[in-house]
Amino acid sequence: ATDVNALCDEYLRLAYHGLRAKDKTFNAELKTDFAPALPQVEGVGADLGRVLLNLFNNAFYAVQQRQLAGEPGYMPTLSVQTEQVGKQVHIRVSDNGTGIPESVRAKIFQPFFTTKPTGEGTGLGLSLAHDIIAQGHGGTLSAESQPGQGTTFTITLPA
Ligand code: ADP
Ligand code: MG
Repeated sequence: ATDVNALCDEYLRLAYHGLRAKDKTFNAELKTDFAPALPQVEGVGADLGRVLLNLFNNAFYAVQQRQLAGEPGYMPTLSVQTEQVGKQVHIRVSDNGTGIPESVRAKIFQPFFTTKPTGEGTGLGLSLAHDIIAQGHGGTLSAESQPGQGTTFTITLPA
C-alpha cells in the first residue's frame, strides 16, 4: 500500500531540486493541497512515483518554456492536489505552462510521441504513465489543457 500524499510531496521536491541543480536561476512556486487522512492506495509505490516524477518533469518543462517567452510578471507555478472521492483517490497535477495545442492533445499518450527536441524527450513518459496507472493500479490518467494557459493531469486510483 502507498501513502499518496507523502509520495507526491517527495517527488515534487525531487523534481524541483533536480532541475535547480542544473539551472540555479530557475524558480517556481510550488503549491500543495493534500487531503488529510487520505486512504492508502494499492500497488507499488515506486511505480506511482515514476508516474508522478514524469508528470512533474513535464510540468516544469512546460513552465520553463513559457518563461522563455518573457511575459512580464509571469511566475512558473505547479500545484498538486489530492482528494478522496468516494472510494477513489484523485491526484491533480496542474501547471501554468505552455498548455497543449488541440492538434497535439490526442497524441500525448502514444509511445514515442514528443514535441521536445532530440535528447530532451523520448516520448515514452506519458504512455508508460498511462499503462502503470491503468494496468498496475486499476486507475485512470487524463489531461485537460488550455493552450497558452496551462495543463492539468488527473490520476484516479482505487483506494
Ligand atoms: P516527453 O516528455 O519525452 O516529450 P511524454 O510522454 O512525457 O514525453 O509527453 C509527451 C508530450 O506531451 C510532450 O512532448 C509534450 O508535447 C506534451 N506534454 C506533456 N505534459 C505536458 C505539460 N504539462 N504541458 C504541456 N505539454 C505537455
Ligand atoms: Mg515526459
